[in-house]
Amino acid sequence: MSQESEQGTLYVISAPSGAGKTSLVAEMLKQDSKLGVSVSHTTRPMRTGEQDGVNYHFVSRNEFEAMIARGEFLEHADVFGNYYGTSQVWVKQALARGRDVILEIDWQGAAQVRHLMPDCVSIFIVPPSPEALRKRLDGRGTDTSEVVERRLNEAADECSHAVEFDYLVVNDDFSVALADLLSIVRCHRLRMPMQQVRHSGLLVRLSRRR
Ligand code: 5GP
Repeated sequence: MSQESEQGTLYVISAPSGAGKTSLVAEMLKQDSKLGVSVSHTTRPMRTGEQDGVNYHFVSRNEFEAMIARGEFLEHADVFGNYYGTSQVWVKQALARGRDVILEIDWQGAAQVRHLMPDCVSIFIVPPSPEALRKRLDGRGTDTSEVVERRLNEAADECSHAVEFDYLVVNDDFSVALADLLSIVRCHRLRMPMQQVRHSGLLVRLSRRR
């Protein structure tokens, strides 16, 4: 089987808000050209600096519910009052083309994907301490203390699901966390079932008795 016809791997990455997940994933994509990220659909309002089709596909609740009814989502969830969902067609086509695909989704979506696609690799990213998390959430600037407290409670809920994931990455030093994430991807690509497909000819030749 050629490299092109190999099925890609699905990586599910979750984290509480403030753990640095989005920046880490952006850097993973820069450093590994075989990785792609799925752009989710959401009903939450667009934030300053975000672009439709880049950060998310921003849709109305009606549109989102119509997509649910048509079975267009691989997974979807209500996260803090807004809908978020992953396009089934995009992910399956990308995997079929041999792309490794990252889903940046919450724990509820991760549980659905693990159930539907048990071969996926799931990774949870945490900050190094509750104090560091508070500092990162405070550091965003303009939010009121109630908003920061609400985010901390939401983060605690998300973190209570960390043990359901295959891997845990602590983002204390960005470059170490990045290396950890890239190592998980690299190790996964070296697992025997995949290597056996890639190197079947080599293994046959090497096992031939002279
Ligand atoms: P934000 O609105 O801050 O970008 O994201 C809020 C939360 O929604 C984050 O935990 C993020 O991972 C999650 N999220 C983003 N896209 C999806 C998705 O397609 N499905 C699910 N289940 N969660 C998502």
